[in-house]
Amino acid sequence: MRILKFFMNPALLAIMTVLASGCDFATAPKEEIHSDGKTMGTFYTITVVGDYPGGQKGLNRDAEEVLHRINKEISTFDKDSILSKFNNTSSTAPFRITQDMADVITTSIRVGAELNGAMDITVGPLVNLWGFGPKKDKNEENKIPTIDEIQKAKANIGLDKLHVEITKNAAYLRKDNPDIYVDLATVGEGYGADKLAELLDRKGVQNYMVAIAGAIRTKGVNNRGRDWVVAIEDPRNDQAVGQNMMVPVCTGGQAISTSGSYRNYLAKNDGKVYTHIIDPATGKPVNHRTVSVTVIGPTALWTDAMDTGLLVMGGEKALQFANERNIPIYVIMRNENNDGFEVHYSRAMQNYMQCE
Ligand code: ADP
Ligand code: MG
Repeated sequence: MRILKFFMNPALLAIMTVLASGCDFATAPKEEIHSDGKTMGTFYTITVVGDYPGGQKGLNRDAEEVLHRINKEISTFDKDSILSKFNNTSSTAPFRITQDMADVITTSIRVGAELNGAMDITVGPLVNLWGFGPKKDKNEENKIPTIDEIQKAKANIGLDKLHVEITKNAAYLRKDNPDIYVDLATVGEGYGADKLAELLDRKGVQNYMVAIAGAIRTKGVNNRGRDWVVAIEDPRNDQAVGQNMMVPVCTGGQAISTSGSYRNYLAKNDGKVYTHIIDPATGKPVNHRTVSVTVIGPTALWTDAMDTGLLVMGGEKALQFANERNIPIYVIMRNENNDGFEVHYSRAMQNYMQCE
């Protein structure tokens, strides 16, 4: 989830593009139904091969309903969402949430812990402090927080300060102190893509691709009966928008998502540019050479949580982490001279880079 009001680097805009795959012109393509729109401050697209109950109208309506419900649950940009109400209450008593919210928060805490807290959904106070949260004015956006402010915000951050409690009839969220602020922005797109995929599964759709910004779910085959292909941009030959080489990736029905430090950033009054991805350990926006990490995995929620943490870790550590656990990742870094880019990928990624 992000707001698209900040500057973007046009040369790096299209880190992940969906390619129509296969050049099998002998086979006539099957009918497709498309649906797209705006959600979570970004865009979503759904491609269904074959029919959907109620056709395109039915698909639009159902997708909007799913996304609307998610926003009402977890958006911190909607002050009436369940999560905003939890963030705004000073009570530390168990707070009733939905079972879906309990699932997404439990998974986020688990993956965050595996990443040693590099992805931390309690990072909200720092996100807000650096001017990337929902409450901000121009002064806030421009100013650099003091060390003291950063220290104070860090005191309220930590995955161990947030607890999901499930009883027989209901799910609850509890915080250790009133200033804990939960930010599900970084996993929201992945979670949303999973929920759209779940909708299509429920409706019996066998072949589809769902994307919310950089979080993608695929199932089955495309309209030419071939594997879905997702393209990751290789920026090494960066000449102009759309001129970059594309690396085709066949996800084989898995989820894929990308986290990029270049997509949303602010220029502050020291003349420097700061990304919206924050390292909870330092309390500051990351400023290493790694500009994006793409991850393949079983659900888009999982990959979306992973990609953010791996980006925070930086390319070298991320590749070591991924190789130790057999996770397919693709990393784009600025080169040492800072005049171009280099691309690295984990061993497990190689299997996905040889599309038939
Ligand atoms: P990207 O797609 O580039 O990963 P997202 O929009 O998915 O970006 O996530 C970025 C948002 O996540 C930030 O705007 C902030 O709200 C939140 N965030 C920033 N740093 C972290 C972090 N280390 N862990 C969890 N959430 C973070
Ligand atoms: Mg992410």
